[in-house]
Amino acid sequence: MPAADPKFLKYVDEHEDAFIARLKAAVEIPSVSGNLEYAKDVERMADWLVGQLTDLGVKAEKRGIGKHTLDGKEVDLPPVVIGSIGNDPAKKTVLVYGHYDVQPALKEDGWDYEPFTLTPDPKTGRLYGRGSTDDKGPVMGWLNVLEAHKDLGLEMPVNLKMIFEGMEESGSVNLDKFIESEKDKFFAGLDCMCISDNYWLDTKTPCLTYGLRGVNYYEIKVSGPDRDLHSGVFGGTIHEPMTDLILLMSKLVSPTGEILIPGVKELIAPVTQDEQEKFEKIHFQMSDIQGAVGGDQTLTDDTIKTLMGRMRNPSLSLHGIEGAFSAPGSKTVIPCSVKGKFSIRTTPNLGVENTTELVLKYINDEFKKLGSKNRCEVSLGHGGEPWVTDPNHYNFRAAHKATVAVYGQEPDYTREGGSIPVTLDFANILGLNILLLPVGRGDDGAHSTNEKIDKSNYINGTKLLGSYLYELAAEKKD
Ligand SMILES: [Zn+2]
Repeated sequence: MPAADPKFLKYVDEHEDAFIARLKAAVEIPSVSGNLEYAKDVERMADWLVGQLTDLGVKAEKRGIGKHTLDGKEVDLPPVVIGSIGNDPAKKTVLVYGHYDVQPALKEDGWDYEPFTLTPDPKTGRLYGRGSTDDKGPVMGWLNVLEAHKDLGLEMPVNLKMIFEGMEESGSVNLDKFIESEKDKFFAGLDCMCISDNYWLDTKTPCLTYGLRGVNYYEIKVSGPDRDLHSGVFGGTIHEPMTDLILLMSKLVSPTGEILIPGVKELIAPVTQDEQEKFEKIHFQMSDIQGAVGGDQTLTDDTIKTLMGRMRNPSLSLHGIEGAFSAPGSKTVIPCSVKGKFSIRTTPNLGVENTTELVLKYINDEFKKLGSKNRCEVSLGHGGEPWVTDPNHYNFRAAHKATVAVYGQEPDYTREGGSIPVTLDFANILGLNILLLPVGRGDDGAHSTNEKIDKSNYINGTKLLGSYLYELAAEKKD
């Protein structure tokens, strides 16, 4: 028995057009956070959102979070929009997060549509436009839920708090400070949290996401002579930095993807029975990844190993060499200093600190073995911790039931191979169970040209978000 009020579900079906019009109005404001030219539009978007929320009965406001430097100018950061509705101690209180800023988009980038005009394709049911899926679609989904309840005179099943930020696409600067400063004020009394800012793994199966990999980015700098040299004159007479660097980089990862840094493999958390079962149930075919890659270069034909390789095991990728000769032609230069770049996608137990310790020790030891007279420095550029939460928490059970009720199928339980850094800020500071509940599909093209959301995902997504709140209210706390 679905817990959601049938009147709510019916309302959503009957108001498709109005909901699409709301998304259209949101997409029309080009709230690009990464470009000073759009600063006024970002502010306008925040005002628009506060206006919508207020009309829907939410106590909403903009909050300044300091300044930053954009395009060489010191300017105010886009405000966060916070809102709350309901304050019944008998109900659960849930925090939802979304972002109202978007990635840049120009028609000339290769869009088939005006990026800031929501354009429906009646044949496919797709709604094209920047922000349609990332993340205005899901944010409008929450507003649609509020509208239905207000118009029908239905009580919300939970107390709802909302935070919508305007800086997600540009690094969420100062959001952590805001969360910290409001921990015992706006964020007091929360039971759990829901973030709608990721995607289904494929195009058919709804999913709930309970983990993210971290990422540590490293640089190995090998330097020797104080100027670039000619191989005809100096080849065969000196220790060449590039030769040392290539050797070091070759010792980081095997061609089969095995990380060769001692101690890393040993830290990987063992696969639990529950985890194994969740991976076995994921709807996934090798052709999905081959399609996305554009060829068959997969490390294995085993779907579970492939999924675990992407979601729950660490990986090491070599990215490039700065200072190397890379132009076309056959220049006979010996570069005097080169920097090799690589990163490790990390999983639980592989924190930034302990992983970095292993990396530095290994590369320095290997460099000593070379007997080279060059200098070698290894450094961490930036590090982000991995995150995983309990997928059997009542927060997830509620979303599971809501998914079954709306889509008639069980959700996949996934973990993202990439990172969503704000998740970590909320998790660390507020100590909550966080559910990542995607609305859009795996092929929506967030950040890309022709970004879209399928109409069915937007409408069913609205039902899903609303139903989740009802299921949450009905769920027994652990
Ligand atoms: Zn996003």
